[in-house]
Amino acid sequence: MNNFDSIKSQITEIMQTIPEGVLLVAAAKTRLPGEVKAAVEAGIRVVGYNYVQEAERIKQAIDDKIQWHMIGHLQRNKVKKAIGLFDMIETIDSVRLAEEVDKQCALEGKTMPVLIEINSGKESNKTGVLPEHAEKLIRHISTLPNLRLLGLMTMGPRFGNPEEARPYFRITRKLFDRVREMNMPGVEMRYLSMGMSNSYKIAIEEGANIVRIGTLLFGERAARED
Ligand SMILES: *Cc1c(COP(=O)(O)O)cnc(C)c1O
Repeated sequence: MNNFDSIKSQITEIMQTIPEGVLLVAAAKTRLPGEVKAAVEAGIRVVGYNYVQEAERIKQAIDDKIQWHMIGHLQRNKVKKAIGLFDMIETIDSVRLAEEVDKQCALEGKTMPVLIEINSGKESNKTGVLPEHAEKLIRHISTLPNLRLLGLMTMGPRFGNPEEARPYFRITRKLFDRVREMNMPGVEMRYLSMGMSNSYKIAIEEGANIVRIGTLLFGERAARED
């Protein structure tokens, strides 16, 4: 069995563990075009990227009609390119970034589906908005005509034992429910993106309906850059 075949059978296996109604995003950072192609052949319909340039390079090599999500920190000077590449930006975490996306979308005549990234672990070195500042950001985004706010995303702290991630998923879920009840214009709390290779089952138990999985689909990355 070559490497691509083993990726395909691995992905088929993992997909069987994802309940209906939960969207699997293949987190494809550092993967080769052939690996991403194999994933798509195995049934992956959404690919997530952390970097605009990498997404651009890989997208050229994949003809299939699939969706592309930005799941890494987005720099403002990359927004113009990003809105041409991605079907959803999962990582809006500031007014400045949101306004730049809105502005570039207006120039291109586009509407961009977005999620807000929540720094649920309140880690100072992490991206994402703190849970207590999220509502203010959401209220602001609800006034931006070219953004469609569709939910929340979180990474949560990384632990050896995934059970320790559960409280951070809960915090994000609570916020999600609270915002949904506010019924703000331009805001539709539809997606809750949380959980990675080691924690996705717990995230689903806590209400995730998007999971972002890399290592379990493609194997270990050569060097961790995140
Ligand atoms: C890499 C990455 C993932 C997937 O992580 P794995 O542990 O490889 O499954 C999910 N979300 C984001 C934002 C990532 O950067």
